[in-house]
Amino acid sequence: MSAFPAETIPCADPLAGFAPHQPAIRAAIDRVLTSGRYVLGPEVEAFEHEFAAYHSVGHCIGVANGTDALELALRAVGIGVGDEVATVANTATATTAAIAATGATPRFVEVDDSTFNLDPPALARCLATHPIKAIVPVHLYGHPCDMTRINELARASRIPVIEDCAQAHGARWQGRLVGTEGTLAAFSFYPTKNLGCLGDGGAVLTRDSALADRVRSLRQYGWRERYVAVEPGRNSRLDELQAAVLRVLLPSLDDRNTRRRQIASRYRAALSDRDLILPEESPGAVSSWHQFVIRSPGRDELRNRLAERGIGTAVLYPAPIHRQPAYARRELKLPVTERLCAELLCLPVYPGLADGQVDRVCQAMRAVLAEPQL
Ligand SMILES: *Cc1c(COP(=O)(O)O)cnc(C)c1O
Repeated sequence: MSAFPAETIPCADPLAGFAPHQPAIRAAIDRVLTSGRYVLGPEVEAFEHEFAAYHSVGHCIGVANGTDALELALRAVGIGVGDEVATVANTATATTAAIAATGATPRFVEVDDSTFNLDPPALARCLATHPIKAIVPVHLYGHPCDMTRINELARASRIPVIEDCAQAHGARWQGRLVGTEGTLAAFSFYPTKNLGCLGDGGAVLTRDSALADRVRSLRQYGWRERYVAVEPGRNSRLDELQAAVLRVLLPSLDDRNTRRRQIASRYRAALSDRDLILPEESPGAVSSWHQFVIRSPGRDELRNRLAERGIGTAVLYPAPIHRQPAYARRELKLPVTERLCAELLCLPVYPGLADGQVDRVCQAMRAVLAEPQL
């Protein structure tokens, strides 16, 4: 089942991923409808326990979306007006928006040319020259950051690490799940993420019970108990419907990631002889394959010609954050980040994609690459 015509292959198709779970999702929706509880009820509590248990950490706090998860995690460690937070510029605008929402300023650090992730030596230089108060590494495209070196640097500077896990549910670094090694971690459950719901949703993970309490308070008006606010908080609650859907999908997260991995292998086998840079896992990394990102200097032409053949692709993200009007830093040059943004192309990779469709993408790729002027 797909929301798209059979002759086209979209770059993302959340319905195709939900399709095998439709009866269970319908039953969950019905259960919520008849329960009479719709916001922060038993489904949210159960999902929080299950998501925390999946990660073997003590605390999960459901929130309204991934951006809020980042913002509330930053606020929980005291980030606010005047603080500088180190992160990358090749990320969802959401990462930067969350930092800005606390009143802090993002400090963009260069990325590694092969993993596309926060480059530890560049981070070390940033920490040596700026009064950074927190680090937000982004496990971009599902590939884990080098959490070992990032945590070493954070410990040496005595600052917290807030992991942006919005694309990396189930990814591992040195055998450990992402989201378990930072001070706190933020997840999004937007429908196209590796674990997605039927709308917006997010969560914060942490091992620290005091920080968990603070996020719990911040997500609901800063309440310590009902109607008693101890600080100005937000309304960022997860609703029962989304939590119930997430409970249906969490047990098969690893299987869906395995399917993504199979698709990635199929692409690599079929395209590896071509004049392209293909994504690889670095030693110690297990990606969640949120995206399969190739690099080509003729990216835009490649993308157009694939579109003519009914193959949808995406460019995540076409402009680095420091080149966007809201966060422009004209003087800042991040050559690796800027080149990546100009060359990258995301091919379809999602659980509902059949082998035959992957092969059609590969055939189209080979045909287009054999054409002149590419
Ligand atoms: C999706 C995403 C977010 C934001 O999540 P929302 O639920 O859309 O607010 C943050 N960071 C990254 C890297 C993302 O991909």
